[in-house]
Amino acid sequence: MTATEGRHDLLIGGERVTPSSGEYLTTVDPATEEPLADVAVADASDVDRAVAAAREAASAWRDVDPAERGRVVHRVADRIREAIDDLAALESRDQGKPLSQARSDMSSAARYFEYYAGAADKLEGKSVPVGTDQVDFTLREPYGVSAQIIPWNFPGNILARGVAPALVAGNAVVVKPAPTTPLSAYRLAELCLEAGVPDAAINVVSGAGETGAALTRHEGVDTITFTGSVATGQRVMEAAATSVTPVTLELGGKNPAVVYPDADVTDVADWVETGIFTNAGQVCSAVDRVVVHERIHDRFVDEIAARAEALTLGPGTDDPDVGPLNSAEHLERVRDYVATGEREGATLVTGGRSPDREGWFFEPTVFDDVDRGMTIAQEEIFGPVLAVIPYADADDPIEIANDVAYGLVAGVFTNDVRRALRAAQRLEAGNVYVNKWFGDTHQTPFGGYKQSGIGREKGLEALDSYLQTKNVAIDLGGAGGDLPGA
Ligand code: NAD
Repeated sequence: MTATEGRHDLLIGGERVTPSSGEYLTTVDPATEEPLADVAVADASDVDRAVAAAREAASAWRDVDPAERGRVVHRVADRIREAIDDLAALESRDQGKPLSQARSDMSSAARYFEYYAGAADKLEGKSVPVGTDQVDFTLREPYGVSAQIIPWNFPGNILARGVAPALVAGNAVVVKPAPTTPLSAYRLAELCLEAGVPDAAINVVSGAGETGAALTRHEGVDTITFTGSVATGQRVMEAAATSVTPVTLELGGKNPAVVYPDADVTDVADWVETGIFTNAGQVCSAVDRVVVHERIHDRFVDEIAARAEALTLGPGTDDPDVGPLNSAEHLERVRDYVATGEREGATLVTGGRSPDREGWFFEPTVFDDVDRGMTIAQEEIFGPVLAVIPYADADDPIEIANDVAYGLVAGVFTNDVRRALRAAQRLEAGNVYVNKWFGDTHQTPFGGYKQSGIGREKGLEALDSYLQTKNVAIDLGGAGGDLPGA
C-alpha cells in the first residue's frame, strides 16, 4: 500500500537530507492500520550533523537583537494559525486523536510561540548589592544547543512547549520526535524556518530510541528536554551524566482526584470524564485514580459509567469523542493492565475490551473497588481506564492519593475552602487542581514531584531550563585581597 503522506527526510541545516543509513520507518494510521508516511531514521552520524549545524547556528542566533528574536518567534505563532486546518488534520491522522482535540493542540502550540515571544527582550539579570568596593550583576545566557525529545501523545504541542522558550532564550534546537508520530514535527519546523528562524537553529532528526540515545549522549548538546516515560527518562539522565548535561524531565503520572463527601457529584463526573477520556487517556496529566468518599461513591460510579458508555469511538478525523490508541503495541499494554486489574480483584464496571473493528481502539473503561496497592492503582496505564478507590471516614484520602511513586498533578473536589487548601498543601504533585481538571495554562509552571520529573515547563519558569546564570564582579578599587568563599 502507498503511504498517503509521502516520504519525509531529515531536516538538518535548513535542508531536507536523506539519512546516512538509507533507512526509513513507515508510520501507520492508528484508525485504519494503513501506512501513512515513510520517515527517515537518523543514526549517530546524522545526529552528529544536526548537532554540528545547530552549534553553528546557536552562536549567531544568541546575538540577534532580542526584540527581533521575539518578532521572529511571534511570526511562528502566526504561521501556525494560518496552517491550523492542515496541521490539525495531519496530527489527527498521525496520532489518532479527535480532530477538535488536534486543533486545540495546534492552537495551543501557536500560543506557546506567542507567549514566549514576548519574553525575548525581558530576560533580565539582576544587580547584587555587595558594597561600595565592587559592582556585581548577573547575565542570563543561553546554553547553546537544546535537544528536545518528544513523546507520541501530544507531538506538535509538546514540541512547541519546549522549542518556543528554547529559541526565545537564544538556543538552537535539535528535535527528536517519537517514531509513531513524527509528521507534525517536520511541518512545525518548516513553519519556524518560513517565519524567519535561521536555517539550522531548528533541526529535526526522526527515528526511535537509538536516535534519541545518540542525541542525549552527544557531547555537543548543552541541555536536554525530555518528555516521556520514567524508564526512558532514567536512561536519558544516565546518558546526560557522562557529559554533565543538564536535563529537564517531564515524565509520567498516576494522578489522583480526591473527592470529599460535600462535592457536587455531577460536576465531578463532568471533570473526570474529560480528565480520563480526552485523547483516549493518553495524557500525562489524566485523572487516573478517583479517591472518593463512600457516601457519594455509588452515585459517582453510576454517573461516570453512564458517561463512559455514551462516548462515541471512531477515527480521529471524524472527530468522535474518543479515537484509537496510538499503536498496536500500546493497545496490547492497555489490555494487559485491564486483565491484571480483573485478576487482582477490581470490579470492571464498564468497558474493558476493544470494539470489533479495524484500528487500535479500546473502550472507555471504569474499574471500581480498586485497592490502593493494586497494579492498576500504582502504574501508569496511559489509556482510557479509570480506577475508583472508595474511602471511609476513618481513612485519610490524601495519604491514599500520595501513595504512588509519581507526583505530576492531583485534584481535589470539595466546597469547603479550608479543606481544599489543606489538601492542596499536602498533595505531592507539581500541579493541584481544585474543583476542576487540566487547570494548567501556558502561563503556569508545569512539572512533576517525585518520579514525575525534574524542572518545569510552561510559564516563565520554563525559561530557567534554557538560560544559565553568569555572575560578573567588577572591582572599583577597594582594599582587595578577597579569599575564595569569603
Ligand atoms: P517513551 O519514554 O517511550 O518515549 C519518549 C521519547 O523518547 C520518544 O521520542 C522515544 O523515541 C525516545 N526514546 C526512547 N528511548 C530513548 C533513549 N534511550 N534515549 C533517548 N530517547 C529515547 O514515552 P512515550 O511512550 O513516547 O510517551 C508516553 C510517556 O510520556 C508517558 O509516560 C507520559 O506520561 C509521558 N508524558 C509526560 C508529559 C509531561 O509533561 N510530564 C507529557 C506527555 C507525555
